[in-house]
Amino acid sequence: MDLGLRGRVALVCAASQGLGKAAALGFAREGAHVVICSRQKKALQAAAEEIRMAAGDHVVQVVPIVADLTKPRQITAVVARAVKVFGRIDILVTNAGGPPVGTFPDLDDATWENGVALTLMSTVRMIRAVLPHMQKRHWGRIVNITSIAAKQPINDLIISSSIRPGILGLSRVLASQYAKDGILVNSVAPGFMRTARMEQIGTSRAKEAGISLDDFFAKQSRDIPLQRYGEPEELANMIVFLGSERASYITGATISVDGGLLKGLF
Ligand code: NAD
Repeated sequence: MDLGLRGRVALVCAASQGLGKAAALGFAREGAHVVICSRQKKALQAAAEEIRMAAGDHVVQVVPIVADLTKPRQITAVVARAVKVFGRIDILVTNAGGPPVGTFPDLDDATWENGVALTLMSTVRMIRAVLPHMQKRHWGRIVNITSIAAKQPINDLIISSSIRPGILGLSRVLASQYAKDGILVNSVAPGFMRTARMEQIGTSRAKEAGISLDDFFAKQSRDIPLQRYGEPEELANMIVFLGSERASYITGATISVDGGLLKGLF
C-alpha cells in the first residue's frame, strides 16, 4: 500500500526518544519531511540524525527544534519555525513526557498542575497553533498519543488516568468540527511499550513489589494476550497510517495498540 506520505510535512512532538521518535522515524521512512521537538538539544540532534538515516533513498528534511512543551510561547515558536521552513504542516502528532507518577495522597497541587500543563494543555496549544495552517490547505491529520489509562484508569498513574480522557473528548469534538476542512483527528492508546518511560515506571513498581525489574516485566507480560511488551515501532505503524492519505475515512477514533491488554468491548 502506498501511504501517500512522500513530500508531506509531519510535526512530531516530544520526539528525541521513545514513542515520539519511533513515529518520526516511521514518517521519514515513508518519505515525509519531519519536524521534531523536545527539551534537550543533544538528544534531539542525535534523534534527527537517526531519522535522516532512516529515510534511506527518500529526499527528506529533518528539522529539530528545542522546545519545552509546557511553555506556550515555545509551542507557537515551533509551529512558526516549521511553517517558515516548509510553508505548511500536514500532520501533527501530539505527545509529551508522561505526567508524574503517584497515588492520590502523594500528589500536591503543583504536581497536578504540572501534569495538566504537560499532558493536556500542550495538546490543546499545539493543535490550536497548527489548525489554521491545515485549514488553509484543506488537508490535515492530527494524531494524539494518549494511553490505555484514557480508557481504563491505572491506580498509580492517577494524573494520567484523570487527564487523558480529556484528550479523547477534545479529539472527538475537533474531529466533528474540522471534518469539513479536510482535517482528521484521531488518538492512539498505547499499552505497555518498551521505552525509557516504561523502564522508569517498571523500576518503581518492581521496587514496591520487592522483585527485580526483569521479574516485574515477565509478570506483567503474562496479563497481555500477546504475552509481551510492544515495541515503539508497533505503535508508530498505527500513527503513520492514521497520518496518511489512506486513513481518509477515519476520524474521531481512539485505537488501542496494546497486545490485547484492554478487554472492554467499547
Ligand atoms: P519517554 O520518556 O521515552 O519519551 C518522552 C519524550 O518526551 C522525550 O523525547 C522527552 O525529551 C520528551 N519530553 C518530556 N517532557 C517534555 C517537555 N516538557 N517538553 C518537550 N518534550 C518533553 O516516554 P514514552 O514512553 O515515549 O511516552 C510518550 C508518551 O506516551 C508519554 O505521555 C507516556 O506517558 C505515554 N505512554 C507511554 C506508554 C509506554 O508504554 N511507553 C504507554 C502509554 C502511554
